[in-house]
Amino acid sequence: MRTIYTPLPELPHLDARDPGLLDAVAHGAARLSPEQGLDLLIHSPLHELGRYADLRCRDLHGDTIRTYIIDRNINYTNICTAKCIFCAFKRKGDEHDAYTLEYEELYQKVQELSDIGGTQILMQGGMNPNLSLDWYLELLNGIRERFPHVNIHSFSPPEMIEFINFFGPPGKGIIEQSQWVLNKLREAGMGSLPGGGGEIFAPAVRSKIGMGKCDMEAWLQVMYAAHSLGMFTSASMMYGHIEGYADRVHHMRMVREWQDKSLLDFGAGEEPGGHYLGFHSWPFQPDNTALGRLPHWPTEDDKLAGLDFPGDVVAQLDGSGTKELDSNFGRRLRLAGSTEYLRTQAVSRLMIDNVYTIGSSWVTMGPHIGQVALKFGANDMGSVMMEENVVSSAGTTYCLDEAVLCRLLRESGFVPAQRDSFYDVIKTHAGPESPDLMVKDWSEHRTKRLHIETAEPAPMAELTVGATDALVVNAGAED
Ligand code: SF4
Repeated sequence: MRTIYTPLPELPHLDARDPGLLDAVAHGAARLSPEQGLDLLIHSPLHELGRYADLRCRDLHGDTIRTYIIDRNINYTNICTAKCIFCAFKRKGDEHDAYTLEYEELYQKVQELSDIGGTQILMQGGMNPNLSLDWYLELLNGIRERFPHVNIHSFSPPEMIEFINFFGPPGKGIIEQSQWVLNKLREAGMGSLPGGGGEIFAPAVRSKIGMGKCDMEAWLQVMYAAHSLGMFTSASMMYGHIEGYADRVHHMRMVREWQDKSLLDFGAGEEPGGHYLGFHSWPFQPDNTALGRLPHWPTEDDKLAGLDFPGDVVAQLDGSGTKELDSNFGRRLRLAGSTEYLRTQAVSRLMIDNVYTIGSSWVTMGPHIGQVALKFGANDMGSVMMEENVVSSAGTTYCLDEAVLCRLLRESGFVPAQRDSFYDVIKTHAGPESPDLMVKDWSEHRTKRLHIETAEPAPMAELTVGATDALVVNAGAED
């Protein structure tokens, strides 16, 4: 029977650091207001924030098990018409290393995943205008026929908008057209829709860094369309560049509001309708990207003039900030390090009270910060990493195998459990047959660092150009 969903109440009269408020939030009795979320993100003592995020996580997921999945990132093409200035992965098509994988190469990658017990592929690519709808449908059919046990977690909202523009589906507006395309892809084998291309929703930021990427409304409507069909999706955020802190909180707020809408419209409880299953966020990786070449804030001149970070001057909790508020907006970079990552993740756990999985981003932060993240609100370690192409092109990422992933979870005080795409546990590794407990020689299982040297980044001139209507997809490393 369908359960009527009721969003938690906000208590805006309370101070963000009021222990009564934080206890209520941690135990699912109240909701943070955006103002309170921002206050926590900026001012809360790090370990206090972590403690409440951990409490909330334990309230939802218990004290014992933390999960991971065995899946593989497959980036089927790097040819892309978009110009995201944070991307070091894309090629125009005439470079020596531009590629579109053949079906047989793609099947081989899925076979390798299947051979190690994998259950999901995360398949995303650049916006390649040479690929037809039939190319995608044949690929999905081919994978499903050969590997019916592997969930195809594929594409992203910006890719869906690209499909709408390229394939001209029937329907009025983005939601109906997305439903038509999604139905075709699902009939061919697509299982779920990852949340790539979320970046930062606020229009002022989005139009600067994702030149031409679909806007926030389109991104959220595609996801709503997927939910209307009963599909499960995820949401993402990439921060630590030109955005202000309020932009991050606005982003979390929008995910929460649209999750409310899906749960209200399509059902919650024991047998819920489609909705977001997880939220994943990670800091921008600057190497080999045009965005990464911006001056870091504060420059000597900024210090002398006592200037605030331009992103904070522009950012508003309702997303209404405009670039006119600061002439330096989009011209200064504020990277996020480990503590910033932990703070942001902890606030996402507390703010987005209706999305139950928060993923640890060990892929970008490294395995050990990934472990710490398990005490800052994360309940899932994501996937073993067999290959990664997108973020590795813009900075170091890490590859590790199942035994190491289990060891990291166990060392953090949890029993590792392999899950499927829908966060249902497949195997709990409590006994001596666990992948990590069977290892005799750890030298065989060292974490590998990936860092792909790439061609020249986009010219700096692009950094100051405003939005275009071209469409952009982020082939993100995590979903
Ligand atoms: S992030 Fe994705 S859509 Fe953007 S330029 Fe890179 S490959 Fe293209």
